[in-house]
Amino acid sequence: LSGDGEGLNAGEKEIEKALRPLSFGDFTGQHKVVENIKIFVRAAQQRGESLDHVLLHGPPGLGKTTLSHIIANELDTNIKITSGPVLDKPSDLAGLLTNLEDNDVLFIDEIHRLNPIVEEYLYSAMEDFRIDIMLDSGPSARTVQISLSPFTLIGATTRAGLLTSPLRARFGINARLEYYDAELLKTIVERSCSILNCPIHEDAAYEIARRSRGTPRIANNLLRRTRDFAQIKGDGTITKDIAKMALDALDVDEHGLDDMDNRILTTIIEKFKGGPVGISTIATACGDEAETIEEVYEPFLIQEGFIKRTSRGREATELAYKHLKIVPPNKTR
Ligand code: ADP
Repeated sequence: LSGDGEGLNAGEKEIEKALRPLSFGDFTGQHKVVENIKIFVRAAQQRGESLDHVLLHGPPGLGKTTLSHIIANELDTNIKITSGPVLDKPSDLAGLLTNLEDNDVLFIDEIHRLNPIVEEYLYSAMEDFRIDIMLDSGPSARTVQISLSPFTLIGATTRAGLLTSPLRARFGINARLEYYDAELLKTIVERSCSILNCPIHEDAAYEIARRSRGTPRIANNLLRRTRDFAQIKGDGTITKDIAKMALDALDVDEHGLDDMDNRILTTIIEKFKGGPVGISTIATACGDEAETIEEVYEPFLIQEGFIKRTSRGREATELAYKHLKIVPPNKTR
């Protein structure tokens, strides 16, 4: 459920596209970030310049890609989309950069996973709008300098800490997206329902919202599945009962923790006496990648107070014990 849309079929991708906000006005929440970016966009536009490079960071599904599309829309420019791991060779990057028109946006997702050689090329592109390309090798090697159109790089990352400092220093605008509270997610769920022409009760929208791990992408995913339940088990309207039935069937618990969240907590408590335990040990025991746990699961579990990060590893909090209905060891008599 916390995936990035890769598992969606064509029809669902269409739906996802339809639900994606296209303007600042449609984009709910992240008030401070949005208000600042609006000003920077307007100022750049008035001066007829490209917007300064933007780094967006935060957990997956919070709207980094959406916001980048909106920025390009509002700048009235094109956006080219790519991602760190896809840009394998400098020539891949050069190909993209040389095709940009004045003030276009280049969006690089997972920018912390750029190949270091490609990253080097990005520095002069960002700073001086030029790249030096090496032609041939050996004695006939020479470099040619190519000038680029002024452009805006928007980098998105779930792990700002993994960015090298020279790269980070080249972003003039740096914004962190936060998890959404239930009220904001409720607004997003209701907006999505009206686009999908699907009737929903207010308390049902809230139920989905508060169990969506603070994440719009998850809220929309859960809404789509709940809509299926309403169609098959009800009369098409999403009521609170239908929402609860769907969420329980999808193993989303009362706190909005999913199967993997609960598996992580259970592992720390039952296999490692509540911790502290290292992230890679947890990952092996849970059968997932350490990186995924660190990027996708842990930030929410920490924010909600289920685990603590200490210098010796992760520890389950009292709240985690309570959640799993296990008595914490220091409380047993
Ligand atoms: P990220 O790039 O951070 O992983 P996305 O921008 O792909 O996240 O967002 C995932 C989905 O969540 C989008 O398709 C969009 O429909 C929805 N979404 C994200 N942020 C918002 C928002 N602020 N308001 C409404 N919908 C949103």
